[in-house]
Amino acid sequence: MEIQGHPVHPGRPCPHSTGQGCDDYANRPKDPCINFNCGWIVAESPLPDWMKPDNAKVIVIFNKTTWRGLPVDVAVPVGRKIPPRALNWLKDFAQRHGRPLLFSEQVKENGKFTSRQLFSAHGPAEFQQHIAELLRNNAPLW
Ligand code: SF4
Repeated sequence: MEIQGHPVHPGRPCPHSTGQGCDDYANRPKDPCINFNCGWIVAESPLPDWMKPDNAKVIVIFNKTTWRGLPVDVAVPVGRKIPPRALNWLKDFAQRHGRPLLFSEQVKENGKFTSRQLFSAHGPAEFQQHIAELLRNNAPLW
């Protein structure tokens, strides 16, 4: 994402981040900071307490897009990869509720984070094929 003209990604934090919070919270930009809805904090979130991003090391965005009328959720790691416990929980949730899931891992080069992410799809085979096709064509996933 970009915050006030600064590219921000793992390894390159927002210039307003103190590591504990935001040093200019009252003036944070509308997009993405105010508009962003972390899946853990939204009203009636199905995520359990332990899935809070600082603990589970994953950020979940519910209803990021749709596929054949089904809601598609997106999960991105806090760090390089989503830890297995959290990813298994998300896959199980996706299966039980019929919600295809897109999840990513952050690409590192020469030991350093880049701005690139590798996406994987979890859900029906046709959904996985659809996402593979989009990725092959470098097309946006949502
Ligand atoms: S809330 Fe503050 S620290 Fe967080 S991304 Fe927005 S400006 Fe940066």
